[in-house]
Amino acid sequence: MENCIFCKIAEKKIPSTTVYEDEDLLAFKDINPAAPVHLLVIPKKHFSTLQDAAGEPALLGKMLALAPRLAEEFGCAVSYDADGAPAAGFKTVINSGPDGGQEVYHLHLHVVGGAHPWRGER
Ligand code: 5GP
Ligand code: ZN
Repeated sequence: MENCIFCKIAEKKIPSTTVYEDEDLLAFKDINPAAPVHLLVIPKKHFSTLQDAAGEPALLGKMLALAPRLAEEFGCAVSYDADGAPAAGFKTVINSGPDGGQEVYHLHLHVVGGAHPWRGER
């Protein structure tokens, strides 16, 4: 897709800090992180929004399944203390359309952890 910044990142035409890549997906660090860990998972194929990719459940599942693997790698996966209480953890977000807060119109999954930016922490 011409003039799509995330297509250009997927094609390596503009730089990003890649943290994962396979034939379908690319994950890279958000340029303006909202927390110590802020990664974006994108399909290499262009879909403007989640609703445009609704016919691709396998691809969407692959994106979602990558999130906990990345969280583990970046040290923010859910862990459990000796009493079995959960600790740490991360947030997965897909914004869709203006009312959903979407700014870049190439489907992307945010993986955010290491703090609680949604509670005012950074
Ligand atoms: P949205 O609001 O569309 O869900 O989120 C877009 C995200 O993309 C934002 O968190 C923003 O910081 C990030 N972003 C925008 N442009 C670039 C870029 O050129 N490179 C990287 N790595 N992230 C970007
Ligand atoms: Zn694109």
